[in-house]
Amino acid sequence: MLMTTKENSRPTFRIKPDFRKEEVQRAAEALERLEEKFPNVGCTLNYENPFEMLVAAILLTQSTEQSVNLVTGRLFATYPTPEALMKANRGDLESIIRSTGFYRQKAKYLTETARILVEKFDATVPNNLLEITQLPGVARKIGNLILGELYDTNEGIQVDTQIHRIVGRLGLSNGKITSKVEHDLMRTIPQEDWNKAPYLFTAAANHYCNAKRPACHACPLQDICPSSNSKD
Ligand code: SF4
Repeated sequence: MLMTTKENSRPTFRIKPDFRKEEVQRAAEALERLEEKFPNVGCTLNYENPFEMLVAAILLTQSTEQSVNLVTGRLFATYPTPEALMKANRGDLESIIRSTGFYRQKAKYLTETARILVEKFDATVPNNLLEITQLPGVARKIGNLILGELYDTNEGIQVDTQIHRIVGRLGLSNGKITSKVEHDLMRTIPQEDWNKAPYLFTAAANHYCNAKRPACHACPLQDICPSSNSKD
């Protein structure tokens, strides 16, 4: 159900009490346990302003936060503003970001994004999903990450391969594509948890819910997970 409040005109979602009742309860229990287990999860990208966060998030596609952090110090020092990045020499830029993978495509995304920021958004990072996903290299997943991190907004839920896998095993979505999984999660998890939930699911996936051999015997969700292979 979509609602608005007087204090905040941004739409908010309320889960109907009986809607997906089992899934709602299982998700709430899972998130509570994971928060106890992993109290400090969150974005570990290094950045000092919204522009740097946007650039780092674009580099994160098909890479890791650790790999991105290895290149962004030099990158931000060389191109500290959208104006500088839009004029970057393509070869120089590619060589700085090369180790993050898909560097040619990412270099194109970065210079084009910088140009659009300057020409359309007054060199500032948009604060809503509709506008931020107009930037090259910023699909819905990255858009949700940036908005949650920079503006604490929660318009959607980040879903990647790992989250897709663990959410499926937990019986919270049987979606085949990430947009369907995101939609199911948005109907299952309270909106105030939309930013935090992906980090908790990712931590659980990294520690226990391996693609080939999930360590269900050690997983704190073992007794509530329909896919558990452990009866201990
Ligand atoms: S119990 Fe097993 S399948 Fe379920 S979330 Fe944990 S590791 Fe994954």
